[in-house]
Amino acid sequence: MLRLATLALLGIAAVTVPPAWSQTQPPPFATTKVDGTDNVYIFRAGNHQAMFVVTSAGVIATDPIGYVRRDAPATYLAEIRKVTNQPVKYVIYSHHHYDHIAGGKVFKDAGATFIAHKRAKERLAQLKDPDTVLPDQTLQRQRTITLGGTSVELKYVGLNHSDSTLVMRLPKEKIIFAVDFIPVASMPGRGMIDSYPIEWEDSLKKVLAMDWNRLIPGHPGPGGRLGTKDDVRALLTMMQDMSEEVKVAARAGKCWDTAEREVKLEKYKNVAGYEPSLPMIVRRYCGLWGRGT
Ligand SMILES: [Zn+2]
Repeated sequence: MLRLATLALLGIAAVTVPPAWSQTQPPPFATTKVDGTDNVYIFRAGNHQAMFVVTSAGVIATDPIGYVRRDAPATYLAEIRKVTNQPVKYVIYSHHHYDHIAGGKVFKDAGATFIAHKRAKERLAQLKDPDTVLPDQTLQRQRTITLGGTSVELKYVGLNHSDSTLVMRLPKEKIIFAVDFIPVASMPGRGMIDSYPIEWEDSLKKVLAMDWNRLIPGHPGPGGRLGTKDDVRALLTMMQDMSEEVKVAARAGKCWDTAEREVKLEKYKNVAGYEPSLPMIVRRYCGLWGRGT
């Protein structure tokens, strides 16, 4: 009885004290099937995510995510092997940034065909990164890949976080996979560095016009949740606000240093990533409105 009473007390204590697991790091890798789908999976390595789709005629994989963790691509392939014996037929790059696409050699060696936007191949050909596989095939506007009865639509929605971003849409599941230009409930910080802010807003409007209801982001959303069209609308509003506020400072001659000290975007101070993102956001919009670039 004493033990039971003690356990009961512990049980009460656990309500008020945060459980230990909430303070530990999540495991480095995780593979999850997307709820309500038969064959759509998310592979996460650290803070990066890729989508893969399993069909009766092979697997359509995306970003190898092998820059931050060099063992991620081999783990990714091993995780696919736990789900299916079907070969990986395609690897599709979301855009040309290494943190998402480096390390594809294990997939190449397994016979996959690599697909990316034309501009991604041009950039990668210039840069010659030894750890990044050059795309075998490219597209400029759109292409649909159909394998084993599953279609994946690849669509270029214009300049945004990069000049080579593809949105991947599963029409049956109404799911899209979009990387870095639609952060879910967080600030676009480093993602602003080489971005195209005006065209980025246009690309968000194009994404809103597409038929989907769940977004798999390239970095996990809060609690690992998927994104929604409301998240895209909120991001568009946030970017319009950020742009406008820095524009005012820029036209008052405050770019770069004064603007970086004074512009606070207070309205968004509770959004995830606010502190580290703020200087990068102000700098990018100062480049746009204070310099014209
Ligand atoms: Zn990126």
